[in-house]
Amino acid sequence: MIEELQALEPFREEVRQWCATHIPKNWRTEQLGADHHQFATFHRWWGAQLRDAGYFAPHWPTEWGGGGFSLLQQVVLGEEFARADAPRNGLYQVALFNAGPSILHAGTDEQKAKFLPGIINGTVWCQGFSEPNAGSDLAGLQTRAIRDGDHYVVTGQKVWTSLAMEAEYCILLVRTDPDAPKRKGITYLLMDMKSPGIEVRTIRQATGQSEFCETFLDEVRVPVENRLGAENDGWNVTQATLASERGASLIELAERLRRNGTLGLAEATKGWKNNDGVVQADDPAVQEVLGARYAESMALRQLLNTMVTNVIRRGGVGPEASVVKVFYSELLQRVMKDAVEIGGLQTQLDQPPLMSAGWESGAWLYDYINAFGWTIGGGTSEIMRNIIGERVLGLPRDPEPKGA
Ligand SMILES: Cc1cc2nc3c(=O)[nH]c(=O)nc-3n(C[C@H](O)[C@H](O)[C@H](O)COP(=O)(O)OP(=O)(O)OC[C@H]3O[C@@H](n4cnc5c(N)ncnc54)[C@H](O)[C@@H]3O)c2cc1C
Repeated sequence: MIEELQALEPFREEVRQWCATHIPKNWRTEQLGADHHQFATFHRWWGAQLRDAGYFAPHWPTEWGGGGFSLLQQVVLGEEFARADAPRNGLYQVALFNAGPSILHAGTDEQKAKFLPGIINGTVWCQGFSEPNAGSDLAGLQTRAIRDGDHYVVTGQKVWTSLAMEAEYCILLVRTDPDAPKRKGITYLLMDMKSPGIEVRTIRQATGQSEFCETFLDEVRVPVENRLGAENDGWNVTQATLASERGASLIELAERLRRNGTLGLAEATKGWKNNDGVVQADDPAVQEVLGARYAESMALRQLLNTMVTNVIRRGGVGPEASVVKVFYSELLQRVMKDAVEIGGLQTQLDQPPLMSAGWESGAWLYDYINAFGWTIGGGTSEIMRNIIGERVLGLPRDPEPKGA
């Protein structure tokens, strides 16, 4: 393993050089207070830079325009992007980590040829899975699709659809057989967001921004040729989507949390004073908290190393990805909570950053509020703990399991 890591040094140097010459120096300050349209414009530009460099879809096969990078190369890329504080590639998250891998896994040759080049060229996708009464219990979804010749006619409502207002396509789960056991009657569709009958309403969040939406579907016609996998077999295709979502995308985020979150907070405390005028960094109680968080960041790093090693050995992400998800999201919240507690009123003066700039933007109060979503999206901490209990610890299974 050590030899393999040493062999990656030239690649690391190449990425580091690219970051030094391509990341705009003041991108965070220039994007302060940007609305979602400005966010999208900036991210489309950033996506094009990554595409030109071959870093846009590092985990995809070269045959479909990806980088074909090994997992260790992806780790290096994530580490270097975090090190250089590159903008996150957030606008394309669903396209690159959810839709693309699912199409690669379950798509026909025609579907791959139809959709994958578009993703590489910057098509934005959203994920229409959750509904008002189907989140953790995703298999309970009620959005109905009825076959009408060579189309499905879809009616229902999705919620929490991230960036639906920017998306050109949607990976959509619908119920095609209401009489079958709930996991057996679901079908996976690829829906054009310009289709008549779709209404997208943004949801205002506690941060004041609107990154996700309610998506209403009223007799939307989706061609049968846009069905991924067999009719009523959507649940199995969904497992590929969720496995991808929870796995590789955490590597870069964890490194950003260690650098911008934990180390960034330690740096910030040097400029903050408490009510007695003492610099926070000099306070032993603050030092104790910072030390603990740094140790936890390093523990997260080790958890990820174990996960990467297991993926290389076994060829897939196992249930320990749930351990990483719980630990990452709860550590993110602890770091941000510490920041607002130590920084006090000063953190309320921070200007909100570019949407989805990351959760370690240096605007600590904003990041604190934003961090709550992380123990919910992609599977709640409670559901992750159920998975850990059953699949890692081998505890008795819930006879009526919920979640993915
Ligand atoms: C930032 C963010 C982005 C998101 N983006 C998308 C998106 O793009 N597309 C999309 O489809 N969805 C998206 N979601 C939705 C997300 O997948 C759901 O919020 C999540 O699955 C939880 O579902 P719910 O909100 O309906 O909560 P519920 O499932 O109703 O859960 C409510 C509470 O009950 C607990 N609970 C539920 N079942 C169990 C159980 N069996 N055991 C123990 N506790 C349980 C939960 O942990 C939670 O605390 C996003 C969410 C967030 C926060």
